Amino acid sequence: MAELESKADSHLQETQDATLTRNSPALSLKRSASPTCEDQDPRKRFKDSEESMDNQCTEQGGSKSQLADEIAQELECGCCSELLYKPVMVSPCQHIFCGSCCLLWIRNGGTNCPACRASSTTAAPSRPLQLVIDVLLRNAPHKARSVREREQADEIYKSGTIMRFPSPREVSPEPNVNISTEYARPCPHCSPNNVYGWSCPIPIPDPTVDLEHAWHIDDGFPTGHVQCGNCETFLALRAPSTTKCDFCKTYFCGIGVPSRCSAAPISLQQPHGFTDISDLIQSSDVYECFNSNTIEVEIMLDYITTQGLSPRHIYRDIVKHILEQPRQFQPLIEMDLFTISHVAAESDSSATPHTICRSCACEIFIWGLKDWWIRERRKGFLEESVMNRKDCPEGSGCVMQTEFDHAREFNHIEGKPVESEISSACSTPPKETTETITEVGITEGDRTSSTASESAPVCG
Ligand SMILES: [Zn+2]
Ligand SMILES: [Zn+2]
Ligand SMILES: [Zn+2]
Ligand SMILES: [Zn+2]
Ligand SMILES: [Zn+2]
Ligand SMILES: [Zn+2]
Repeated sequence: MAELESKADSHLQETQDATLTRNSPALSLKRSASPTCEDQDPRKRFKDSEESMDNQCTEQGGSKSQLADEIAQELECGCCSELLYKPVMVSPCQHIFCGSCCLLWIRNGGTNCPACRASSTTAAPSRPLQLVIDVLLRNAPHKARSVREREQADEIYKSGTIMRFPSPREVSPEPNVNISTEYARPCPHCSPNNVYGWSCPIPIPDPTVDLEHAWHIDDGFPTGHVQCGNCETFLALRAPSTTKCDFCKTYFCGIGVPSRCSAAPISLQQPHGFTDISDLIQSSDVYECFNSNTIEVEIMLDYITTQGLSPRHIYRDIVKHILEQPRQFQPLIEMDLFTISHVAAESDSSATPHTICRSCACEIFIWGLKDWWIRERRKGFLEESVMNRKDCPEGSGCVMQTEFDHAREFNHIEGKPVESEISSACSTPPKETTETITEVGITEGDRTSSTASESAPVCG
């Protein structure tokens, strides 16, 4: 036990150093925001003349909240994907989790890091991380968990305790380092006594116990198993926790990081990388959808903020709209929007898809965002100052729209409010709509494939 504590002490020292030098994986700000809020901010310039539009970033409060969002994102628990609560850091891989999440993992039979599956010794509370979280919560109190959530977590894990990972089996005195990379490791269901209530009929032999029968990686996937599309551990194809994305045909284990290691019913999925509006602000894909017309993206972001919409809400609108089309997802599948997994053996591309993974949901989100925006604009909620701008004669393909003054002066988006549509809500597609959409289809085609013009969503 003394040994354990001294280990933890030196570990704490390590993490402190890491925090100070900003080299800690937990603190590296991995995403670069496309257009920043500092100097030269196009939004600010726009705001000067468009006082009516609420802007996220102009005041100090705005950039502060963006900073808070970015830090919170870096301090996500690898298990529950929420802001860390009473964080612990796993040794030696330095992945971070809520104390309660990590303890539950160990209680459920976890013998390694829940994120990278590297063999782990201990998970120790991280004081430096806790300090950062405290500062964050003082500045962004809304990011704190509810009292009830905190109570539940506290019941599981008492802060300050060091957790020790049980060794996988009390055998193999000197584990061969190569074993883990050369041989397939058993899946969570392989052990007949696993906690998941289902066992593999043909388990993968554990190379640390039975090297002679171990499954060499070069021999392909072990019978009845493939790798999870998210955490990459082996999963049993027939296990009840296994799900498959009907778009990319990838399988997910449902166990590693449950919310991420799964395909879900199409309209319930969360598009990967788009949790809240700050993710939209930071995504270069979003700006690309609009031919890098920053002003138009700003108008849309202001609208999304005012209407209190989340990316998930928009994603659902897009899915709903696609489902209303006669061929539904088929055109998207035909334009190869989804990268089909090489694992896909019996791919029946004509079958109606029901489940989707986070990555494919993200593809749909990005693909449909501009058309969604055009439909929203037609609802007529936008400021007159925005709607009354002259249409640029070059239209949506105008190369000048990357310039703020030009983009601010001229409209580059098709889709004025159509009187009949506001009332009838797309029940009968007016003639203009069809023309508009064809144009949008061509824009889409530039980005993806030439078949897009036929497959662009048509209001109707
Ligand atoms: Zn957690
Ligand atoms: Zn790890
Ligand atoms: Zn198995
Ligand atoms: Zn997984
Ligand atoms: Zn998928
Ligand atoms: Zn123009």
